[in-house]
Amino acid sequence: MADLKLLEREMRGWRRDLHAHPEFGFEEKRTSAFVAAKLREFGLDVAEGVGGTGVVGTLRRGNGNRAVALRADMDALRIPEQGALEYRSQNPGVMHACGHDGHTTMLLGAAKLLTEDGGFDGTVRFIFQPAEEWGKGALAMLDDGLMERFPFEEIYGLHNMPGLPVGHFETRAGAIMSAEDNFEIVLKGVGGHAARPHAANEVLVAACALVTNLQTIVSRRLSPADIGVVSVTELLTDGTRNALSGLARILGDARSFRPEVSADIEKQMRVIAEGTALTYNVSAEVTYTREFVPLLNDAALVEEAFAAARTVFEPDHIATAREPMTGSEDFARFLEHVPGCFVFLGNGRDSATLHNPAYDFNDAGLIHGALFHAAIVRQRLPAD
Ligand SMILES: [Zn+2]
Ligand SMILES: [Zn+2]
Repeated sequence: MADLKLLEREMRGWRRDLHAHPEFGFEEKRTSAFVAAKLREFGLDVAEGVGGTGVVGTLRRGNGNRAVALRADMDALRIPEQGALEYRSQNPGVMHACGHDGHTTMLLGAAKLLTEDGGFDGTVRFIFQPAEEWGKGALAMLDDGLMERFPFEEIYGLHNMPGLPVGHFETRAGAIMSAEDNFEIVLKGVGGHAARPHAANEVLVAACALVTNLQTIVSRRLSPADIGVVSVTELLTDGTRNALSGLARILGDARSFRPEVSADIEKQMRVIAEGTALTYNVSAEVTYTREFVPLLNDAALVEEAFAAARTVFEPDHIATAREPMTGSEDFARFLEHVPGCFVFLGNGRDSATLHNPAYDFNDAGLIHGALFHAAIVRQRLPAD
């Protein structure tokens, strides 16, 4: 049996090494080389360069022909790290502010546990994906033939959760994380002298009205039973102190848990943009893109995940998440191909929030992630 204390110490070393060398999405060269080297050292079959910088490790035991996949994300964010950790980022302006250094380490720990101790019959795919934060890495691996080259029937993933105590586990059936759509509305008119608005056809007043009108999409167009968010995040114009703007760009972000809601938001946004532009005698052009799909957990596999969690966590530290999160996760792309389950593990009550420059993954939770990954494999690919 693997020495868990030793594994915990090793994992802490790996995690801090990864934390000190964060890499942005699709630039995870050192990270993926680190992952591939460790997997080879443990004795797995390793494929590199899957979907850019993705890595897939394969481990087989016994004669079982079923395959289960476990997935971790490897990328960091363009956020300058605050604080004085001894293992702080050595890549200026880039940091592991979402704990993907921890997720990668947990999955490596699971690979080591499962190679040393086995306890399953079948095939395990260890998927290390690039560019989760972009919402592009999972698609890149899928487009590179992930399902054909490394087939599997179900998949599991996890994310650390600030605010939830270390050693606590949560998930829920159905929607657990939201879709993310992005939009840009360009208003065009004719700029001019600030003292002569009647001689111009400026766009700023129209843009302000449009920002206000967009607030009615959720409040007046969506069913009260549906969850939706429409946030305008930027309003940029080409005006200056004494010149009226002829061009305005409104950018923002919309969240939802059902494709129908996302479609309704886009439809109503186009109606409002056109109507407002008409009112102010300017033109409007809407660009609406879907960046992340909603993350929908399979109800039966959620029960399997809870059962596996009971072998790792205290019974009263396992809970059903009360509500879905309006954050988004690239893991959802894999669930368009096979059923699976995504879970949350506590990063501590005092943890800074995700994407905060003072955030740090809590090493006390590393072993729980490794043990949970191993437990779900043993449960879904039983050795007897
Ligand atoms: Zn993130
Ligand atoms: Zn993340």
